[in-house]
Amino acid sequence: MTHILHRQIHTTLPVASGGRGIELFDADGRAYIDASGGAAVSCLGHGHADVLAAMHRQADTLAYAHTSFFTSEAAEALADRLVADAPAGISHTYFVSGGSEAVEAALKMARQYFVEIGEPQRHNIIARRQSYHGNTLGALATGGNEWRRTQFRPLLIDTHHIDPCFAYHYQQAGETDEDYARRAAQALEDKILELGPETVMAFVAETVVGATAGAVPPVADYLRRIRDICDRHGVLLILDEVMCGMGRTGTLHACEQEGIAPDLMTIAKGLGGGYQPIGAVLLSQTIFNAFASGSGLFQHGHTYICHPMACAAALAVQEVIARDGLLDNVKAMGAHLTRRLGERFDNHANVGDIRGRGLFMGVELVEDRSTRLPFDPKRKLHARIKKEAMARGLLVYPMGGTIDGIKGDHVLLAPPFICDVAAIDAIVERLGDAIDAALQTAS
Ligand code: PLP
Repeated sequence: MTHILHRQIHTTLPVASGGRGIELFDADGRAYIDASGGAAVSCLGHGHADVLAAMHRQADTLAYAHTSFFTSEAAEALADRLVADAPAGISHTYFVSGGSEAVEAALKMARQYFVEIGEPQRHNIIARRQSYHGNTLGALATGGNEWRRTQFRPLLIDTHHIDPCFAYHYQQAGETDEDYARRAAQALEDKILELGPETVMAFVAETVVGATAGAVPPVADYLRRIRDICDRHGVLLILDEVMCGMGRTGTLHACEQEGIAPDLMTIAKGLGGGYQPIGAVLLSQTIFNAFASGSGLFQHGHTYICHPMACAAALAVQEVIARDGLLDNVKAMGAHLTRRLGERFDNHANVGDIRGRGLFMGVELVEDRSTRLPFDPKRKLHARIKKEAMARGLLVYPMGGTIDGIKGDHVLLAPPFICDVAAIDAIVERLGDAIDAALQTAS
């Protein structure tokens, strides 16, 4: 009997009792390779001695001080580090406790920016279908996952959704990447023109789409075109790198690989690696200047912003990643994972697409590869894969069902950056077995 309102009320969860390196252990002593880092969170794995030591030091010194009275060394040092490594034009950071809070804060920054510069008529937000930006009401309104939104719709602010850039499902036969990038980006310009450019505040997109679609990178040039369109119409570009950012794709920020910089960027998950709850908004000098030379404040705040314990943990996580050259390992192990997934699944009758970047990979399951026909959502293939994987000591993040008209099941892999070749090989072997077993029980 539990007194926690768990997400799945009728499922009894095993108790996690420990974690070391890439493994988690349950109370019965079973070990699981954490091949999804929870939900792309545990980038350093579990129980990292240097992070624990930094957290102990911070707890001994200062656990908490309210930001209306004080700043802290840990928060200042983390901000310095993040801004030094940020995309061009980013000058400041705003610390919160997770991804949804970061998205909420970014939306409010965008709105306040236009109020400060005398364009208060800009209030429209454009985002994409099949996206997820968090579960608080503003973030949920921005996301384009109807399954999550439907029952809350009367509470949500109005946002406008365009099609995602998702080659496997939306690129037409014979269409080149260049033509597809142009067509997908044009959807944004069409929507801006339809709404009236002077009313549009921001376009929000995940650089590489995570939870709802399964590690879907944009086709080449799509985001560069998006950046141009936003600039031409004075619309702010908010990149949500809560899941795909902080090294997960092999560069600190996924947008580095697109050659663009956003006006606002949200980060979370890998920022603190799960050692503490923390998220942040990175904002441009232009936005900061509008606040600084205008009202002189950002009209927002929560009790736990800039939490010293969270900032100290995140600082330690980021220092370890840099010190140990782990982004190089993400690239190398990402290449190995891609290769091994290809060897295992390229000829698999029910694997339609393998995609992703770095240690952020998605495997999409289909009933028929030639027609890309998905499995009937009633079969809940993704849930069976999760169960079979856990039975084999593997944690993967599966999603499925119907997402805005596209039915499908996929598995998201986001193993810790400390993975080695043996770990990747074990992940692919266990995943292959789990998928085959799930297909048998689902048929
Ligand atoms: N944005 C993206 C892209 C996410 O993947 C998530 C969570 O999965 C969020 C925002 C919300 O983050 P959180 O669950 O920390 O509130």
